[in-house]
Amino acid sequence: MTLALEVISLSKRYGSHQAVNRLSLQIPQGSFYALLGPNGAGKTTTLRMVAGLLKPDDGDALILGHSITRTPRAAKQELAYLPEDPLLYDKLTALEYLEFVAGLWGIPAKEAQSHAKTLLQQLSLWDVRTDLTETFSRGMKQKLALAGAFIHHPKVIILDEPLTGLDAAAARLVKTMLVDYVRQGNTVILTTHIMEIAERLAEDIGILNYGQLVAEGTLDELRKRSGEAGGTLETVFLELTQNQEVKV
Ligand code: ATP
Repeated sequence: MTLALEVISLSKRYGSHQAVNRLSLQIPQGSFYALLGPNGAGKTTTLRMVAGLLKPDDGDALILGHSITRTPRAAKQELAYLPEDPLLYDKLTALEYLEFVAGLWGIPAKEAQSHAKTLLQQLSLWDVRTDLTETFSRGMKQKLALAGAFIHHPKVIILDEPLTGLDAAAARLVKTMLVDYVRQGNTVILTTHIMEIAERLAEDIGILNYGQLVAEGTLDELRKRSGEAGGTLETVFLELTQNQEVKV
């Protein structure tokens, strides 16, 4: 089994606060994985370390076998990370932005243009391709950032709250795109506070609390684990995350 992501005893402390606490995770290639957890559980900190944007205090993360600490270039080549508040360049048009990002990845211009066109069409942004991104609404910016994440054909895509702020039509487009991407053999790892998204899209769900994995499995497995046989993911989530002691 090829692992898209292997997190090995990853830790991060801010001052005296242990945000991520010897976290280990294994996510096979081809999975749709949702990482859930209450506010402050350590989800963003974990993903930023995995993406190579934050230095872990301890531990490592492997992207398709490439260590993010020892061979970051190889690891990042396979990966796209979409933060919750992505930064776009105001004075670029949507198309220019995608061509710029493609350039950073060393993708030839012709290939970049053709892939950018496909992505903009998929995300209903083709009609605004020559508009400056500063004129975009929050949802449009989010969709463009997502297109930017896909531009270099990453095998693993990590998204922090990708559907927050999207209207129903945009959310459906993005969900379809992510599901198709997994069907092609790639891996999607996302965080969300919207239980319905995890319930409907993710095959595997990990629940983080106090920087540790408190439960992991399919929805059915989590239901069994929490003793809530017919429960919704929300019930199971609350059952697993409330009244939990901090383990150091
Ligand atoms: P949310 O669901 O609210 O986005 P999260 O699970 O993504 O939360 P993190 O953002 O990883 O949680 O934060 C984990 C803990 O680390 C929190 O207690 C937070 O206050 C703390 N923290 C995060 N970033 C910093 C920082 N730059 N400096 C100090 N503390 C931080």
